[in-house]
Amino acid sequence: MKKLASLKQLINRRQLLFSGLALAVLSPRAVLAEESRIPVSRHNKAAAKAPKNGKFIVMLDPGHGGIDSGAIGEEGSMEKHVVLEIANTVRQLLSSHPHIEARLTRDTDNFIPLYQRVEIAQQHGASLFMSIHADGYTDPSARGASVFALSNRGASSAMARYLSDRENAADAVGGVKVQQKDQYLQQILFDLVQTDTIKNSLTLGKHVLDTIRPIHHLHSQHTEQAAFAVLKSPSIPSVLVETSFITNPNEEQLLGTTAFRKKIATAISSGIINFYNEQQRHNRRVS
Ligand SMILES: [Zn+2]
Repeated sequence: MKKLASLKQLINRRQLLFSGLALAVLSPRAVLAEESRIPVSRHNKAAAKAPKNGKFIVMLDPGHGGIDSGAIGEEGSMEKHVVLEIANTVRQLLSSHPHIEARLTRDTDNFIPLYQRVEIAQQHGASLFMSIHADGYTDPSARGASVFALSNRGASSAMARYLSDRENAADAVGGVKVQQKDQYLQQILFDLVQTDTIKNSLTLGKHVLDTIRPIHHLHSQHTEQAAFAVLKSPSIPSVLVETSFITNPNEEQLLGTTAFRKKIATAISSGIINFYNEQQRHNRRVS
C-alpha cells in the first residue's frame, strides 16, 4: 500500500513538473498568474483561501456587452443591459456583508472577451466567479432559471450544449481569435486542479438554485455542466447563472421590472452567502 501511495505521489509530482514546464513554454504570463494558486495537496486550497484584506472577493460577470448584445427579446430588450442591472444589484446587496467584497468584470456597456473575464477574476484574487445571463433559446416557451458549472467531458443536456455554444461564440462576435495553445494549457490544468474546483462550483450552484427555487421557476433542478469558456478558471469556483429566458415573452416582461431583477439579485446574493457559510463550516471541521 505504501509503495502505491509513493508511486502516486511521484506521478503527481511528475505531472506538476511537466505542467509547470509546459506552462512556461506556452504562456509565461499564465505561470505568473497561476504559480501561487495551484494547490499541491488533494485538498482544495481555493475553497479555503484566506480572504484578501479580511474580505473574500466575489467576481460578478455581467454577460456580453458592447458589440455583443447577447440575446434579444421580442420587445427588443437586450440581455447585456438586463444582466448588468442584475449584477449591479447583487454587488449592492453584498456590500453590507462584513466578509465579502463583490466586484464586476464590467460596469459599463463594453465588450470583454471571455478569456479576459477569467483573467480579471484571477488578477483580483477572486475566490468565487459568477457569470450572469438571461439567454435566449430557439423555443420561445423555454422558461426559468438554470445554473451551469464547467464540464471537461460532455454537456449534461442538449440545452447545456446549446447555451455553451452560444456563450462561447461571444468572442467570435467581438473578433477575438482564441488561440489553440489555450486548449492545451487548459487540458493540463484540468487534470491537476479542476476536479476539486468543479466540485466546489457544483456546491455553489446548488446553493444558488436553492435560493432561486422559492421565487422563480427553475428550468433545471440541478446544476448542469457544459464547456463554458468563461468558467475555465482552474482554481476559482465558477458558475454561470441563466436568470431567465429573454426570448420568453413573459420572462422578457419580468426582466424589464426592477422588482423582478431585485428578487433574482437577492436570491443570487443569498446563495453566495450560504456557499461561504458552508465553506467556513467545512474548514472548521477539517482544521
Ligand atoms: Zn448570455
